Amino acid sequence: MELQFLGGASEVGSLGLIVRDQGRTLLFDYGMTPTDPPEYPRPAPTNVSAAFLSHAHLDHSGMTPLLSRLPHARLVCTPPTAQVAELLTKDALKVARAEGYMEPYGGDDIRNLFARLDPVPRKGVYRRQGVEVELHSAGHIPGAAQYLYRGDKDLLFTGDLSASESRLVGGADKVETDILVMESTYAGREHPERRETERRFKERIEATLARGGKVVVPAFAVGRAQEVVLTLAHSGYEIWLDGMARKVNTIYRNAPEYLRDSRRLYRALDEVTTVEHPADRKQAMRKADVIVTTGGMLDGGPVLFYLAEMYRDPRHSIFLTGYQVDGSNGRQLLEKGTLTIDGVTVRPEGDVESFDFSSHAGHSELVEFARASRAKTIVLMHGDRREELAKSLRSFADVRLPENGERFTL
Ligand SMILES: [Zn+2]
Repeated sequence: MELQFLGGASEVGSLGLIVRDQGRTLLFDYGMTPTDPPEYPRPAPTNVSAAFLSHAHLDHSGMTPLLSRLPHARLVCTPPTAQVAELLTKDALKVARAEGYMEPYGGDDIRNLFARLDPVPRKGVYRRQGVEVELHSAGHIPGAAQYLYRGDKDLLFTGDLSASESRLVGGADKVETDILVMESTYAGREHPERRETERRFKERIEATLARGGKVVVPAFAVGRAQEVVLTLAHSGYEIWLDGMARKVNTIYRNAPEYLRDSRRLYRALDEVTTVEHPADRKQAMRKADVIVTTGGMLDGGPVLFYLAEMYRDPRHSIFLTGYQVDGSNGRQLLEKGTLTIDGVTVRPEGDVESFDFSSHAGHSELVEFARASRAKTIVLMHGDRREELAKSLRSFADVRLPENGERFTL
């Protein structure tokens, strides 16, 4: 069996893995890195017959529309992953046009790809032309799957993993395999206890409201916004939700079997007021206690409207809930205390804090997951500190840290 990363081996972004086995060429994920400007993986070989998409986040799905130009490629994923990926790739194209980046594909490619979809339900099996691949839950976000390829040897591709359950989704299934291809985003790092994070989050919201302020919570639309809404359910706060999360909520509402507790999510969403039109934003500013909105890294989206309205008033707070990539507006806020809004750099007067609502497994959870897989060979991907994780795995497996483009045989 031969493996080759098209991207995403030693960094978080642009993931793509080619597996060649028994004359077949399979692709696992095909993402981009939504930086300024975006980065892309190497081109996929033209003889790919099936592409398995672990989940909808752009660093995994962002280049899948290009597969529609390959003669035989089918796209395999769960139905909610397909729907959210369609939403995100359309948005990526819109951003490329608005920012004047090279357009990686056209709207036709997105439409054509989803006409070539082979949807497989959670825990289902994909069988076509002698290829057999099982789906197992990856936790992380609704619809996220790990793929177990049954070849000469079994190979498990994890995509992104969360080991323990969140309020939105259950934890990843533990699966036995010969070869484990595992994400390593949090190599060398552990998460604080989630309950403690939630307690501090609510306490800091309370303190902001007590002094007459509002809280803006920038959150990624896929997974994080819903997790924040669930955390604040039944709190009695007036919560407003803005940005793409609204469309994602509709997809999740129609896929209850992918949620940890669908009724709880429905109830929590019913308590929230959704911004339907830009004109509602002024009303949100007047009425809301907490505004949950995209973009999660403050680089675009409605969050900038709210920040422009609020930054001068020291009573208001900005509570970040996700990883802030180097070079993002969110990172600038954390490191320098400043924000760039419409090209102008400003210094928010109120509190700025960061809360770890990550949906990735931490270092020791990854070690435990790998041990439970009983894999003899572990390939680490999707991390910029892989060596730290490799050290913890070498006592029970042969660990590989391939570079992008390198072909290696297992
Ligand atoms: Zn992800």
